[in-house]
Amino acid sequence: MGRVALVTGGTRGIGAAIAIALKGSGYTVASTFAGNVEKAHAFRDETGIAVFQWDVGDAAACAAGIAEVEAAVGPVEILVNNAGITRDGWFHKMDYDAWSAVLRTNLDSMFTMTRPVIEGMRDRGFGRIINISSINGQKGQLGQVNYSAAKAGVIGFTKALALENARKGITVNCICPGYIDTDMVAGVPEKVLEGIIAQIPVGRLGNADEIGAVVGYLASDQSAFMTGAVLTINGGQYIAN
Ligand code: NDP
Repeated sequence: MGRVALVTGGTRGIGAAIAIALKGSGYTVASTFAGNVEKAHAFRDETGIAVFQWDVGDAAACAAGIAEVEAAVGPVEILVNNAGITRDGWFHKMDYDAWSAVLRTNLDSMFTMTRPVIEGMRDRGFGRIINISSINGQKGQLGQVNYSAAKAGVIGFTKALALENARKGITVNCICPGYIDTDMVAGVPEKVLEGIIAQIPVGRLGNADEIGAVVGYLASDQSAFMTGAVLTINGGQYIAN
């Protein structure tokens, strides 16, 4: 059996592609999801990847869920913090619920998911933590003050945690995807999406498996010298605008 990898939000979209890529590289993979049971079970049946349901914003649920995963497949050696949501709207109209839901799922989850696994990684002298941020955490985006703040926080979290664990065989990196063709982007109004694609030099949305392939590298032993990195995968959008 390969190393154990846990992917949050790993039952659809980018997370599903990551889980499939890791399984394809021989890892023992577990995926989590929030509430879409039907989709998660279809993913499990199709891929043979074990799925677990809990809210990544809930610290107690994460601790219990990770204990359940570790009892089933062994200590988590690779953690992919991928689960995320958007609750878009201009800041001057935004209510506190939209702010806190996004901060909780996208940023608090860095703590609630990573804290229970980091001591074991340090003790064993090996770990890979891969966090999914966003191009909009790097550059900001209209209507996404909450999301941009959370995703920028993920970058700071990644760099500081990388420094603390660099001597322990643990790397911590983050990926900032541009616009990837998933359910999340399907929620963007068509006109807005057309405008976004016009700003992407390669002229298209990204595919989830283009992120999965990079996570596969970051999870590997060969990536040991890469830590605290922020990888932009966005069809050139960040440099073009
Ligand atoms: P999707 O909306 O397609 O999938 C989200 C996944 O996260 C689902 O598995 C969902 O579970 C899970 N999830 C959501 N909230 C929670 C929660 N509170 N607890 C546990 N799991 C949760 O998202 P994408 O694949 O598009 O995005 C994945 C990540 O990539 C996110 O962090 C996103 O911000 C980031 N990203 C996406 C971009 C894009 O263009 N798509 C661009 C840049 C970054 P369930 O199915 O049960 O709802």
